[in-house]
Amino acid sequence: MQDRIKTGDGGIILTSAEDLLNWARLSSLWPMGFGLACCAIEMIATYASHYDLERFGIFPRPSPRQSDVMIVAGTVTFKMADRLRRLYEQMPEPRYVISMGSCSNCGGPYWEHGYHVVKGVDRIVPVDVYVPGCPPRPEALIGGFMRLQEKIRREHPLAPQMLLDMEAKAAEAV
Ligand code: SF4
Repeated sequence: MQDRIKTGDGGIILTSAEDLLNWARLSSLWPMGFGLACCAIEMIATYASHYDLERFGIFPRPSPRQSDVMIVAGTVTFKMADRLRRLYEQMPEPRYVISMGSCSNCGGPYWEHGYHVVKGVDRIVPVDVYVPGCPPRPEALIGGFMRLQEKIRREHPLAPQMLLDMEAKAAEAV
């Protein structure tokens, strides 16, 4: 939180309502619990005790309606693309997407000859953070979450980035 002032022994912190709301949101990210291919193994390892994502307030939820982050961990086939988009649309706003690994980022090893693979999940859903690697290590996924937290810290809590982007595009079109 910015602009906080600690006053003596009382432990009082002064901050704005926006900073407080953003701090609460970025400290309780709930990713949807699903994986698509080998990158998901690294994602699962990141949840486990050695890397312990819960120390950031991050733990997976079994339903898109309770989730605010989608981690696309693995190869996105055209067969799965419709399901992935439907899950994304079932998530409440504000919602975020982390693209984990080369397959999700750009098609990965299937870039040239994988007729069945989507060449980047950003063709289906808007991506907030790209995590490179094949597969990325847990530290890289944690780095991706930290980037997402920084993005949320800068947002206005009542106007998520997507709405601001839409307004900017509408203004450009005029
Ligand atoms: S990026 Fe590499 S490790 Fe991840 S799903 Fe694709 S092939 Fe597997």
